[in-house]
Amino acid sequence: MRGAFAAAVIDWQRRAGRHDLPWQRPRTPYRVWVSEVMLQQTRAETVIPYFARFTARWPDVPALAAAGREEVLAAWSGLGYYRRAIHLHEAARRIVERHGGALPRDLEALAALPGIGRSTAGAILALAWGEPAPILDGNVRRLLARWHAVEGWPGRAAVACRLWALAEGHLPRRDVAAYTQGLMDLGATVCTPRRPACAACPVAFGCEARRRGDPCAYPAPAPRRRRPRRRTRMLVLRRGDGRVLLARRPPAGVWPGLWSLPECAPGDDPEAWCRVHLGFAARTEAVLPTVRHAFTHFELEIEPLLLTVEGAAAVGEGQVCWVGGEETQGLALPAPVRAILGRIGA
Ligand code: SF4
Repeated sequence: MRGAFAAAVIDWQRRAGRHDLPWQRPRTPYRVWVSEVMLQQTRAETVIPYFARFTARWPDVPALAAAGREEVLAAWSGLGYYRRAIHLHEAARRIVERHGGALPRDLEALAALPGIGRSTAGAILALAWGEPAPILDGNVRRLLARWHAVEGWPGRAAVACRLWALAEGHLPRRDVAAYTQGLMDLGATVCTPRRPACAACPVAFGCEARRRGDPCAYPAPAPRRRRPRRRTRMLVLRRGDGRVLLARRPPAGVWPGLWSLPECAPGDDPEAWCRVHLGFAARTEAVLPTVRHAFTHFELEIEPLLLTVEGAAAVGEGQVCWVGGEETQGLALPAPVRAILGRIGA
């Protein structure tokens, strides 16, 4: 049955899988790596234009290593989970320093790089070189959990361990790249989270979850936990020339290194806050609609306030700046900040 699973996946991938994704043409280790990192937590349709722009600008590891952090974050702007971009950039620098600018063809060396876990390392080895390395991204976890009717939430170590063992057990000796791509394609297009197309599934013949009549019961969902809510007030400080003030976020924490709006606590007097922290006067104009943004571990509720600032209101160079018009397009901004600026036409 095990060999039959891999054979069916490979055969289906060749007939009906995806063959024209941009990272498949050409399928170099660098392009596989960039695509795998972008695809973590993000759908392929969203990734495609980002991937095209990113690899056109930085076509290989040395080019990415030579880029500035700010440029990389700006190119990532809107894709979310910015730590992925920081890790990608950091890993490119290490690959140049320690591996002569080429991704190492070795599981341990790959997994030692920032932002490359076991599954991403496996995908690079399998897709770029045809090496027999298993993968276990979200799609593959779901597919295997259903096929074997694995009980339990995959976030638990014991369940993850079982799934990794199953992933290893199914690995074929040949055609590893087609097999790995087939797993990803099946998870993305057939064995989908809410409506698996079992009637069209090439591995339906041995699927235990289907036999039990409730594929969507697998894998078990994460235990429900209420995400805590945090509140903040963002100040949209606008000058007479239409420019708004942005402040760079610290290198660690939420939105590391991105440009954002100055923030004060919801209970603070925003005008007094501006005098004390920015050294100029501002007048409150309007409370803008609340914006909510979900992070993995909490939900952020943003109350944006529009304030006008008289005169040039000079600020020191570096961590704060006045921007306007097209300048904001080229900056690395968190999605909610871009949305707030869009509302006032900045
Ligand atoms: S038969 Fe259905 S549940 Fe089973 S692997 Fe195929 S699509 Fe998924």
